[in-house]
Amino acid sequence: MSPPAYFVTCKKNVLLAPDVYEIVLTKPEGFSYKAGQFVLFDVPLVDNPADLQPRAYSIASAPEEKDLLFVIKLKPGGRASRWVAEVLAEGSIVGMGRALGLFTLTPESGGHYVFVGTGSGVAPLRSHLVSCLDHRTTDARMDLVFGVRNREDLFWTDQFNELARKHSNFRFHPTLSAPRSDWTGLKGRVQAILPDLIKDPAQTKIFLCGSPAMLADTKKLCIETLQMPKANVHGEGYI
Ligand SMILES: Cc1cc2nc3c(=O)[nH]c(=O)nc-3n(C[C@H](O)[C@H](O)[C@H](O)COP(=O)(O)OP(=O)(O)OC[C@H]3O[C@@H](n4cnc5c(N)ncnc54)[C@H](O)[C@@H]3O)c2cc1C
Repeated sequence: MSPPAYFVTCKKNVLLAPDVYEIVLTKPEGFSYKAGQFVLFDVPLVDNPADLQPRAYSIASAPEEKDLLFVIKLKPGGRASRWVAEVLAEGSIVGMGRALGLFTLTPESGGHYVFVGTGSGVAPLRSHLVSCLDHRTTDARMDLVFGVRNREDLFWTDQFNELARKHSNFRFHPTLSAPRSDWTGLKGRVQAILPDLIKDPAQTKIFLCGSPAMLADTKKLCIETLQMPKANVHGEGYI
């Protein structure tokens, strides 16, 4: 493996929801990125730290924010998952590459942007929303559909509710696929809400992030059923 472009310091690593960690890293001098991009970390094997392999993670902070924010959902026995849960701590040094990816956007005045994220797939969507709403102050209409299994799997809801309170052009729609009986909000898969949200398919752009299966189903719905132009449907699959 070639040497990493940057070495960054871990400022925070905390459990945010079951099996989901929130990680804050220092932003290195000279590092620039666009909302929606990801980086590759050099991830050591827990039992042999000299053995490094890359893993991709979306940057959840907006470029205008001070630090770099990430969320990592653990996969049982996974290399990065063990590293995050067992090793990575405040003060750890992490090797990181430059920003990559085309899951980016330039908000058009008067447009409608629908963001759909499942689990940790909400990460790059947070970056877009904070950048567009708090820093570029777009007047485009924006909706976030955040899908998880149960109430305890939700995170950053205070931040998204606060964005919705501050910006009348933004609406937040948390939805649970396996809620308990006391949940009174939206239920079901993220796709279920889209026909109600997308009133003008030709003028709507959708940004999907999460499992490849969710992406495939939602793209099919948007293009074949809702008749959205293919060019308006963007996806980032977490493989
Ligand atoms: C562009 C992009 C952005 C991403 N952003 C994020 C993000 O922001 N947050 C996030 O949580 N994820 C993100 N991902 C997913 C992330 O890159 C990792 O795939 C994920 O974190 C799992 O990595 P891991 O090293 O823990 O697991 P891996 O070591 O890659 O293993 C994955 C699973 O396969 C199993 N496995 C591995 N090897 C074998 C084997 N030989 N036989 C059987 N089973 C095996 C493991 O036990 C584990 O359950 C992103 C992916 C992409 C492509």
